[in-house]
Amino acid sequence: DQEELRCIGCGSVIQTINKNGLGYTPKSALERGLKSGDLYCQRCFRLRHYNEIAPVSLTDDDFLALLNQIRDANALIVYVVDIFDFNGSLIPGLHRFVGDNPVLLVGNKEDLLPRSLRRRKLTDWLRQQANEAGIRPLKTILVSAKKNHQIDNLLDEIETLRGDRDVYVVGVTNVGKSTLINQIIKQRTGVQDLITTSRFPGTTLDKIEIPLDDGHQLVDTPGIIHQEQMAYVLPPEDLRLVAPQKEIKPHTYQLSDEQTIFLGGIGRFDYLKGPKVGVVAYFENNLVLHRTKYQNADQFYQRHLGDLLVPPHPGNESQIPPLVRYEFKTRQKSDLVFEGLGWITVPANVTVAGWAPKGVAVLLRKAMI
Ligand code: GDP
Repeated sequence: DQEELRCIGCGSVIQTINKNGLGYTPKSALERGLKSGDLYCQRCFRLRHYNEIAPVSLTDDDFLALLNQIRDANALIVYVVDIFDFNGSLIPGLHRFVGDNPVLLVGNKEDLLPRSLRRRKLTDWLRQQANEAGIRPLKTILVSAKKNHQIDNLLDEIETLRGDRDVYVVGVTNVGKSTLINQIIKQRTGVQDLITTSRFPGTTLDKIEIPLDDGHQLVDTPGIIHQEQMAYVLPPEDLRLVAPQKEIKPHTYQLSDEQTIFLGGIGRFDYLKGPKVGVVAYFENNLVLHRTKYQNADQFYQRHLGDLLVPPHPGNESQIPPLVRYEFKTRQKSDLVFEGLGWITVPANVTVAGWAPKGVAVLLRKAMI
């Protein structure tokens, strides 16, 4: 049996023959991809590195066909999101494609949250965010696909909520959907050959079907690419330094007004107005935070991007989109969220600004503590 190689972006079977076909990868790139473990088809590679094509779901007939099929199906939709990047996890137009189908919202990467953080507050927030996007999940749960936390619970919820339906697992790339599916396969079947690979009718997209007890299927749909994600904004070697990898250790800073904290060179926090306060930063433990005066911050950034302020690595500076500024006044204790990176908890009644590379959202939410 020859093992099929798949693009980790779109799930297509990798092939090196038909340049215009799905999954096409030049031979040299295939070898590189196999070595580094990051195997992308050329199309996803280009999208990831050069933003060459618009989001697949909006332009690609296959994705539309797939989403239409979901709408027409009688299915439970398991919608997987990255709790560190809700906006980056949104599937454009998902609410339309969900139709009347029930939705189970799954917030993945729970293992990264500090223990002190109230899980309940985070699920409430995820649900609110989903509602704003027009999706009304029946239930919201947190899991860690990687650490196998709450996967049993997830499977129980799926059984309860699906009734007599198929299950479609949907999510954009990078939320951890493949990791989750692999855990489910391990727990549910334990047998590799129970997975059948078939096509979505009328498309060239592959699906993975995991049989459920009563003849229904759990269907893994191809990951849909969302460009407004750190993963697509940063070069891969820089992403590795900023995407949280382990349980986050909060760091407290005592700040006076008009002080700035740089998040490497890819984010920035300004404490603009308010008394002397403590703020708590939740970011990847290895991301270097650098404090400076607000007055000098612009100049400091220009001068030190790529040396004191890394990532970007020296030489990658020009690949980082310009930072965009979002200003907020807090009415309650709040988290200023840098999507894909983490957040800073600030007190009520202060004025702050968050900056992130163009395309990556910064938003304010009620504090999770
Ligand atoms: P997909 O594109 O949605 O299929 O995502 P992958 O399963 O390939 O995961 C994307 C990245 O997130 C990989 O680096 C995974 O190791 C990581 N990841 C996935 N699940 C988890 C999780 O539960 N916790 C943590 N910390 N990382 C995860």
